[in-house]
Amino acid sequence: MVERRHTNQRQWVLDTLKAEGHLSALDIYNRVRADHPDISVATVYRNLGILTESGQVQIVGHSSQKEIYDARTDSHAHFVCRSCGQIFDLEGIGPSDAVKNLEASGHRVSEQRLTLYGLCRDCLEKHAKETHVQ
Ligand SMILES: [Zn+2]
Ligand SMILES: [Zn+2]
Repeated sequence: MVERRHTNQRQWVLDTLKAEGHLSALDIYNRVRADHPDISVATVYRNLGILTESGQVQIVGHSSQKEIYDARTDSHAHFVCRSCGQIFDLEGIGPSDAVKNLEASGHRVSEQRLTLYGLCRDCLEKHAKETHVQ
C-alpha cells in the first residue's frame, strides 16, 4: 500500500514534466500540488532524484540558480533565454566536431549536452518596444 502511494507520486512528477516540457523542481511541485495538495517539496525532490538516477529524466541546465528537469532523455540540444528563462528544444543537432575529434583520438563520448544561451524572440520584441517608447 505504501509502495503504491510512492509509485503514484513518482508518476505525478513524471507526468507533469512530460506535459509541460522543462521545469524546475519548484515549478513541478506547484503544478502537482494543484491536483494533489498533500504532496511535499521534499517528496518532489526525492522523486526527481530517483527519476534522474534511473535515466527517465535529465537535468538540462540551470536557470536563475535552479536546476531545470526534462522528461525527454533522447539526445537533443537546448536554447535558454537569459531574460525570461524559457527553454526551447533544438532538433537536428548531430555529433559536434569536438565529439568527432575526441573519438578520432580514441576517446569515447557517451553523451553530448549542448545548451545555447541568448534572448528569445518574445524578449527581443518586448525590448524593442520599450526602447521605442523612450
Ligand atoms: Zn525570453
Ligand atoms: Zn528538452
